[in-house]
Amino acid sequence: MATFITEECINCGACEPECPNTAIYAGGVEWELSGEKHPPISNDFYYIVPDKCTECVGHHEQEQCAAVCPVDCCVPDPNHPEAEEVLFARAVQLNPELAGLELSAATSRFRK
Ligand code: SF4
Ligand code: SF4
Repeated sequence: MATFITEECINCGACEPECPNTAIYAGGVEWELSGEKHPPISNDFYYIVPDKCTECVGHHEQEQCAAVCPVDCCVPDPNHPEAEEVLFARAVQLNPELAGLELSAATSRFRK
């Protein structure tokens, strides 16, 4: 599942710099992919772009946004269930240097 941010977000900004995929944006800010800009998904709270979130697969053992969020409002989105291979394929698309990486407990929450 892609991670999403609930309305409990207090707009502290701690999560944004932790995302390895630049999938997190402040409310009201346009998001970007491959040089194309898109309208904000939320105008009020920080938000995560599902097309850019890999649940940190390929980078970390757990979701980094959830790890730093002081109010625990970065949670798995039940409306976006996704398998590890889908998330890793996205990670490689966003970060070509990850191609060929052997996933482990250190780089996938699915291996813990
Ligand atoms: S789970 Fe990881 S990839 Fe997804 S938004 Fe949070 S920090 Fe970024
Ligand atoms: S760390 Fe949590 S409270 Fe702070 S901006 Fe991110 S989602 Fe909102």
